[in-house]
Amino acid sequence: MKIAVIGGGAAGYFAAIHASEPGTQVLLFEKSGKVLSKVRISGGGRCNVTHRPMEISKLVKNYPRGEKFLKRGFAHFSIEDTFSWFESRGVPLKIEEDGRVFPKSNSSQSIVDVLQQEAHQLGVQLQLSNGIRLIRTINPDFILQTDTGDVSVSKVIVASGGHPNLTAYDFLKSLNHKIINPIPSLFTFNTPQEPIRELMGISMGDALVKLEGTKLSYRGPILITHWGISGPAVLKLSSFGADWLHEKQYTARAIIHWNADLGEQDYVAQITSYAKIQPNRKVLSSPLFGVPSRLWEHFCTQAAIPEAQLYGQLPKKMLNKLVQCLFCYSVGIQGKTTFKEEFVTAGGLVLDEINPETLESKFHPGLYFAGEVLNLDGITGGFNFQAAWTTGYLAGTSAKESLKML
Ligand SMILES: Cc1cc2nc3c(=O)[nH]c(=O)nc-3n(C[C@H](O)[C@H](O)[C@H](O)COP(=O)(O)OP(=O)(O)OC[C@H]3O[C@@H](n4cnc5c(N)ncnc54)[C@H](O)[C@@H]3O)c2cc1C
Repeated sequence: MKIAVIGGGAAGYFAAIHASEPGTQVLLFEKSGKVLSKVRISGGGRCNVTHRPMEISKLVKNYPRGEKFLKRGFAHFSIEDTFSWFESRGVPLKIEEDGRVFPKSNSSQSIVDVLQQEAHQLGVQLQLSNGIRLIRTINPDFILQTDTGDVSVSKVIVASGGHPNLTAYDFLKSLNHKIINPIPSLFTFNTPQEPIRELMGISMGDALVKLEGTKLSYRGPILITHWGISGPAVLKLSSFGADWLHEKQYTARAIIHWNADLGEQDYVAQITSYAKIQPNRKVLSSPLFGVPSRLWEHFCTQAAIPEAQLYGQLPKKMLNKLVQCLFCYSVGIQGKTTFKEEFVTAGGLVLDEINPETLESKFHPGLYFAGEVLNLDGITGGFNFQAAWTTGYLAGTSAKESLKML
């Protein structure tokens, strides 16, 4: 009885571990010379392994693709299960203020080690530098064409990850599963023509960023960088708007509300009342609404407010222009930059063709999928690894259970 797992990443390891049972041979094929490469470098070397526990209905909202599909899977293996899996194996986790979860050791090596130890103890047979070139189905078995020859197995779990290039999915061709063109998700916006770039390093803690021409808008911190705009609000927008932005070849306009909670009239009212209390203060040197002074000076320049202008005599035209900068600052996007290389792939295997409870192919019994090879991806914050643990767990346990039926 042999189960083959294709891909030695987070999903592949979790699938192999959960597929293991005495009497079953689990073979883990990895085409490169290293396993768990992304886990190792993830979260800046700390591995953001999951997110703060939350209800499943809220959790799934962090997946621009795969929301409905993962809802079923999370009912079997969710964030709490990730906590207990790692902690019961001697890897305590900690929740940071923004909800991200890391090993207490602050080192991804703890995660790599526990996965490798567990797989080793369970007798998973690692086949390093042995990629799969083709999968042939010979009912009820499968023949894997590997770099070192053909291997016959009873069950196959594909956990080969995402890839921006469609050719990386060629080894799945013979299975006739539909593959949605892979495109990048999680990137920052380049704004090469915008003067705002001069203000690199400035951030606002709770902005709202919209994509003009869509209904998409996300709030959170925003950061101005030397190439454009970044920060959680922008990353979320890039993720939910990945398809639309790709279609527009990453040329679009973003509208920034620098304080997500304030409406246009709130700005007018607050500036007007400030002008009554402090009529002799200079507008340029007295920033309001928590706006950093360099950004405020930039708004004043945009609003043609002279250096000596006092709040008490601020002309309506200038006030309106200043409010426009605060409430709907428009920037032209031309291109993207991958966020600290923590990109994920949007696209991959069409979810309708896979059972969300078992991760089994609806066309080929005994064939399972897990991880980013599927058309599912999350925003930053540990959601992508959570999807890998959940789908890996389900694919592994389902393959193991179905072997017992033979
Ligand atoms: C730099 C970086 C940092 C990240 N940090 C975080 C983070 O902190 N938190 C988070 O939640 N997410 C993070 N992510 C996203 C997360 O790493 C991925 O979503 C996750 O690793 C996907 O796991 P996977 O097992 O599906 O795929 P992968 O980790 O990509 O593993 C797939 C494996 O399959 C192998 N493979 C491919 N084709 C074949 C074949 N034909 N035969 C044999 N082997 C094959 C590949 O070589 C690879 O080793 C990060 C991503 C990157 C790039």
